[in-house]
Amino acid sequence: MPETPEQLWERAHDALRMPPLDEWETFPFDGAMTPRALAPPVDREAPRHGENGVDCRRCALADDAYAWTNDRWRLFPYDHPALPVVVLLEPREHYADPGDLPDELAAELGVLLARVERAVRAVPHVGRVHVCRWGDGGEHLHWWFMARPARLPQLIGSFAAIWEDVLPPLPDEVWRENLALVSDALEREG
Ligand SMILES: [Zn+2]
Repeated sequence: MPETPEQLWERAHDALRMPPLDEWETFPFDGAMTPRALAPPVDREAPRHGENGVDCRRCALADDAYAWTNDRWRLFPYDHPALPVVVLLEPREHYADPGDLPDELAAELGVLLARVERAVRAVPHVGRVHVCRWGDGGEHLHWWFMARPARLPQLIGSFAAIWEDVLPPLPDEVWRENLALVSDALEREG
């Protein structure tokens, strides 16, 4: 039987584990750490930004804020990331979750996930492109493409998203050039 949040909390809050961080070469932090206490469930989750498209910042943005667009999709450049490229793929129209997309857009999404990943991976010195969807912040559907640098083994895996907040932002000219390489590669694909 599926567990309610209350049941999960009751079972887990006194049984938290500390993973072996000292064995995780990719963990960005040193020093003694303990798990944060697990707060009990709330009655209702806070709404996401732009719920139902109301006052949605993404819907309101003009195309010139984007690195690439077509009739139904837009690629948003994360401003001066620390990783070589961080871009977000969004449908032009306001959809909240992947399962809300009509089949035609979902099929296009599959093609675009591959195209954007290929375009980002083509930037020199990119080791891998993480393609991620979280969706607990803004409601407007967005897929993250996070390029991690090559040959820095500590930056592999999911902690790359945390290293993004630890490493210093890219110099302006590096950011713009990397982004232009991605945009140009997508334009060439049509
Ligand atoms: Zn929106």
